[in-house]
Amino acid sequence: MIKKIEHLGIAVKDLSASIELYEKLFQTKCYKIESVESEGVKTAFFKIGESKIELLEASKPDSPIAKFLEKKGSGFHHVAFETSDIDSEIQRLINEGFELIHQTPKDGADNKRIAFLHPKAVDGLLLELCQEKSA
Ligand code: ZN
Repeated sequence: MIKKIEHLGIAVKDLSASIELYEKLFQTKCYKIESVESEGVKTAFFKIGESKIELLEASKPDSPIAKFLEKKGSGFHHVAFETSDIDSEIQRLINEGFELIHQTPKDGADNKRIAFLHPKAVDGLLLELCQEKSA
């Protein structure tokens, strides 16, 4: 089941400059910086009340984020929804005919298992499913 928006992802060209910018904007410190090698991305997370923002910078020139930045520039990138059971949610969406980028969950940042739907499956929206890894 999809439970709530877990975070919004924003693509940035220069992570340290953007961390400074968002720290000023939100008046709060970024609580985590983490690289996800498999995705070629370096992330920084902010918590604002109940909401979370993820900044994403490319760490490899051929990563999906690098291609996104090249095509569209910095700005809104994806919305992530928390699921209670990502495996069964993926299966349900496949059965409903949705095209997924990841048909099996993979390790994402911030202690999550994640899977992305293909933007063309969701009106051009890049949608991430995630589930907190159990300790
Ligand atoms: Zn995300």
